[in-house]
Amino acid sequence: MLQHDTLVQFLKGVGPHRAEAFGRLGITTVEDLLYHVPHRYLDATTVTPIGQVAVGADVTVVGRVVSKAVVPTRRRLRIFRAVLRDDTGVIECAWPGQAFLDRTIKQGQLLLVTGPAKYYHGRQITPREQIVLADPDDAADPEGIVLPVYPATEGLAHRQVRRLIHTHLDSMLEVVEDTLPESLRGEARVPGLREALAAVHRPATVADSEAGRRRLALDELFDLQLVVARARHIARSARKGPSFINRKALTTQLKESLPFALTSEQKRAVREITGDMIGTERMHRLLMGDVGTGKTVVGLFAMLLAVENDYQSVFMAPTELLAEQHAATLRAHLAPLGIVPELLLGRLSAAEKAATRDRLASGEAKIVVGTHALIQEHTAFHRLGLVVIDEQHRFGVEQRAALIEKGKAPDVLLLSATPIPRTLALTLYGDLDISVIRRKPVSKQPIRTGVRSGADRSAVHQFVRQQAEAGRQAYVVYPVIDESERVDLKAATTMAEELSTTLAPLRVAGDVDVLVATTVIEVGIDVPNATVMVIEHPERFGLAQLHQLRGRVGRGAEESHCVLLLEEPAARDRLRRFAKTTDGFKIAELDLRERGMGELAGSRQAGGFRLRFADLERDEDLIELSRRAALALIAEDPA
Ligand code: ADP
Ligand code: MG
Repeated sequence: MLQHDTLVQFLKGVGPHRAEAFGRLGITTVEDLLYHVPHRYLDATTVTPIGQVAVGADVTVVGRVVSKAVVPTRRRLRIFRAVLRDDTGVIECAWPGQAFLDRTIKQGQLLLVTGPAKYYHGRQITPREQIVLADPDDAADPEGIVLPVYPATEGLAHRQVRRLIHTHLDSMLEVVEDTLPESLRGEARVPGLREALAAVHRPATVADSEAGRRRLALDELFDLQLVVARARHIARSARKGPSFINRKALTTQLKESLPFALTSEQKRAVREITGDMIGTERMHRLLMGDVGTGKTVVGLFAMLLAVENDYQSVFMAPTELLAEQHAATLRAHLAPLGIVPELLLGRLSAAEKAATRDRLASGEAKIVVGTHALIQEHTAFHRLGLVVIDEQHRFGVEQRAALIEKGKAPDVLLLSATPIPRTLALTLYGDLDISVIRRKPVSKQPIRTGVRSGADRSAVHQFVRQQAEAGRQAYVVYPVIDESERVDLKAATTMAEELSTTLAPLRVAGDVDVLVATTVIEVGIDVPNATVMVIEHPERFGLAQLHQLRGRVGRGAEESHCVLLLEEPAARDRLRRFAKTTDGFKIAELDLRERGMGELAGSRQAGGFRLRFADLERDEDLIELSRRAALALIAEDPA
């Protein structure tokens, strides 16, 4: 009898050698093997009959190797070529520079290849991927069946993985125990676990395998949301936060003295924050909104609520520049209220810092803005009630905790200028409550974005010149500064020189009309007079990153422009979609869709976990469901 922790080494057909190869795939037990799911499926709908391959299309074909050869070329590049045949025709495949394939691909094998079809003395495929489906004497896989393709490794071909899994599948499925609450499974309309794993490994149709995947995704999301719901519960109830009273003293004064009225979204965020702060549980809230949506002033309302309850508030920013900007803003808003915010930065003199720290320790100072300098040991507060952290992702978990530890269970408000879709937020930040501001205050001029090609380059430069001559400033951004990375990319250093000739007598660099830069300007630069942003090689940036760059202009009263100077026509459509909207959340969704699951690994890892089955876009409903179920379960039984 198998157990879930039986080592794969003891399965029939797996010797020490293969066990080692499985180890490289992270598989040591029967359970690991059961969860080693195919990364793709092939069926009649994904495979093109060879006779129907059209030049210009990207295709997957399956055929027997009828001949093969290594062909030398004049450029000392050797090409491996093979001719494949199925019932409908023959086609040549060419692998430039991969003569070594001659050793592994054999005449008579059944081969699957995927790649673009071109015209070269006839139709020819240049494969990106090739998989040996069967050896010369093996019968071909029975037709009409969905073929699962497994991740493989050296010494363990995908068809060996498939054969082993399929041989042992039924006995492995017997060890499976389904622990998901029946009600959740019903609500999500997914199969039982055993059925799901069978469907993933041995689907009758591709739709079957998808139903199985959804079930595995639900398990994964529910696990995650349970962890998150428990963390949320502990953070909120282990130590009660301060209970503020909504006295409407300072907050009302601020409302009356502000030079503008809050937008409806700002008002809603203030309401949500106030609700948290007057409640008995601690606030752990994330306020998300693009740069310029007015998060700072929302944070200020929260700080004043703490101050009118005789608590202190702290506002931490990631750079001295940002901290100073915030301090200036707060100073202006607080002047009519007779409150002077303190500023604590690393670069202040020792005497200045000591004086500020004294006022914080005595309670004389009510509001302080600063950088990491705030979290050093000798900073102590008299009675800290609220912590606001700007650009929260730029601080480590320990740094945030260190600031929060300065108080006795203070309320916490995190600000983020990186909008992300709700599904991703619930997954990454599930332990936080979330407030969102989507729209900027209406008085702001929208930024106009245009996509231009290399042929328009001189017209674009002409436009930069006009703007500069009218007294504005411009940024020109390049993706890399290291010329060795790719010769055809115009590195910022060379371009700065070229542009100073082209645009003379404008000042390029220095005391500037035009600033040539790499993406360092993404962070923290606020130049209201800059109205033009030219981005070179925009196809090399993710949409979210382009959006951050674009946010460097449009900060003053003048109309601003963003020009995407494109050399690669293939990227035009996606950049046009980007140009059409300035809504950071919409762009984040496009970005998520574009990058898909693989690339998101980075941000998911940042959340401290890895999703193998769930797809944040496709499984939005499962995320919501599992979150609700997890919160309900933890509320009922926190342990
Ligand atoms: P964020 O921190 O979200 O990037 P800020 O709080 O710095 O944005 O606000 C950007 C600018 O908009 C500031 O100059 C601020 O004074 C102004 N602002 C904020 N709220 C409003 C509003 N409701 N109406 C008009 N201007 C506003
Ligand atoms: Mg801000």
